Formats: sequence, C-alpha cells, structure tokens
Amino acid sequence: MAGGAVENKLLASWAVATTDSRLAQDIFDFGRRSVRKLLLRLLIGGIFAIFGLLNYYGSTDINPVTGEKQRVQLSPQQEQVLGVQARGEMAQQHGGLYPDEQLQAYVDAVGADLISETGARQSPYNFEFHLLRDAQTINAFALPGGQVFLTAGLMRQLDDEAQLAAVLGHEIGHVIGRHGAEHMAKQQLGVSLVNAVGVAASDGEYGSGRSAAAIAQAVNQLVSLKYGREDELESDRLGLQFMVEAGYDPRGIVELMEILESANSGGAPPEFFSSHPNPGNRAQELVGMINQVFPDGIPPQLEDGRDRFNKIARPRLP
Ligand SMILES: [Zn+2]
Repeated sequence: MAGGAVENKLLASWAVATTDSRLAQDIFDFGRRSVRKLLLRLLIGGIFAIFGLLNYYGSTDINPVTGEKQRVQLSPQQEQVLGVQARGEMAQQHGGLYPDEQLQAYVDAVGADLISETGARQSPYNFEFHLLRDAQTINAFALPGGQVFLTAGLMRQLDDEAQLAAVLGHEIGHVIGRHGAEHMAKQQLGVSLVNAVGVAASDGEYGSGRSAAAIAQAVNQLVSLKYGREDELESDRLGLQFMVEAGYDPRGIVELMEILESANSGGAPPEFFSSHPNPGNRAQELVGMINQVFPDGIPPQLEDGRDRFNKIARPRLP
C-alpha cells in the first residue's frame, strides 16, 4: 500500500511537471489502475507462493527473493556502489540517455510498478531505469545493484506496455538473482572492481583521468559478463512473476522473445543475443510456465497496456 502511495505521488509530481494535460490524465489513469490490481495481486501472489517461486528466509547467504543459496563476494551495498559508479560510463558507451524526459518518466513508472507491487520490493536494491539514446542497437542489460538499461532501438520494436514490463522484469530478475555478482565471484573480479571504483569515488565525480579509467575498466568487465542458460531462465521466471504481479498479461514476455527472434532473422542480430541466447527455446519454456500458473487461461484483468503505450511512448520514439 505504501509503495502504491509513493508511486502515485511520484506519478502525480511528474504529471504536475508536464504541461500536457492529456498526458497528465494518462498518467493519473496509470496510477488508478493500481487500485484495481490490488485484489488480483493477492490472488496471483498466492499462486506463485504455491509454485515456490517466491520464498523469504532472511539469512544473508540466502537470496531474499529467490530463496537460493549464493556464493558472492560483494554485499548488496557494494553491488549498488559498483552499479552507481558505472552507470554514467555505461550510458555514454551507448550514446547517452534518450533525450525525452517524459518518455523516461514513462519507463520509470512501469519499472516502479514492477518493484513496488511485486516480490521485488523485498530486495535490498534501489532500482533505476535508463532509456538509452542508441536507436540502432536492440539491447537491454543490468548492472549489479539495480541499474537497468534498455536502448531506444529495443523499445521501438515493442508493441505494448506488457512487453516493456517483460524487458524490465527480466533485467530486474538478473539484479535480484545477483547473477552479475555471482559471475564476478567465479572470476575473482568483484573485490578488485569495487576497489577500483572505490578509489575513483574518493577522487570525486569522474574527476581525474585515473578514476575515469578505473570506471571504464569496471564497465568493460561488467559488460563482458555472459550469463548462462540457468541464469536466463531464472530471470525469465522472475520477470514473468513480476509482470503478472504488477497486473500485466504474461503473454507479453513470450511476444518479446518472438520480437527478438524475428529481429535476429531479419538481418543484423540484436546484441541482446550475445548475452541472452536462444529466445526461441525460452519462448517455449515461458509458454509452459504460463500454462502451469494459469491452467484455466489468462485472467482477463491482466492487461497488455497497448493503448497507454501507443499514446505515451509511441509518438516519443524514433
Ligand atoms: Zn538476461
């Protein structure tokens, strides 16, 4: 409930800031939708609890959202420091941020729902969502600690809000699954990267050449992380869970895989594939999961948000 209030306040403040009153109305509708979703969420929360996808143990060795035991060197706080230090450089490497604050606010609002209304709110991370200017590359990724990115190139391939929620939900899944931190632990990278950006932080805001170089190195190491099939499946499963808990039609994530696959067969393969293999197989897995969770069909209250996407996002995309 508190999350909903915060979200509404956030939406309201953004809506006040905009001079476009029709757009403001769209955003308020977006907020009102949350109330309708509350009852549905209780139902869906119960379903996912039965399937054991959401467990809470509270020990530091055990992931508070997935319930898995994990081997990581970094604390969640260190992951966040790393992510925050690296986010600016990461955005620069992808052409900077998309120059439309209202489109960014729309992405933020969808992302905020995926946290405040779902099991993701149990995680210790402060999530931030960044729409990147790059309109040619089809990609999305996350840094440890909650920094989530998607390119304008990917966003303009999407048809509706549920598909956007699928992209963000999947990346939130990588953060909450701590896949980056696990990977860094395997490569003994975590401590050296935190030390590198820690030194940089003490030099002030991207001040010296040394700190910029350290951050660039950290970013390159983070970018080169490739997740395995198990990590991808866990993120798909978490993404599916979060989008459904937030009130979205789960078919959006299957459609996302189809969009990525057709982008792949239609010429230049999207970069998403280098870190996100085999969308075709994953679509099948997701269809299986959806049928398990909803054996009697998709509840009609779960929506694809196509009208909102077409009204708010489509005209602001390249
Ligand atoms: Zn992934």
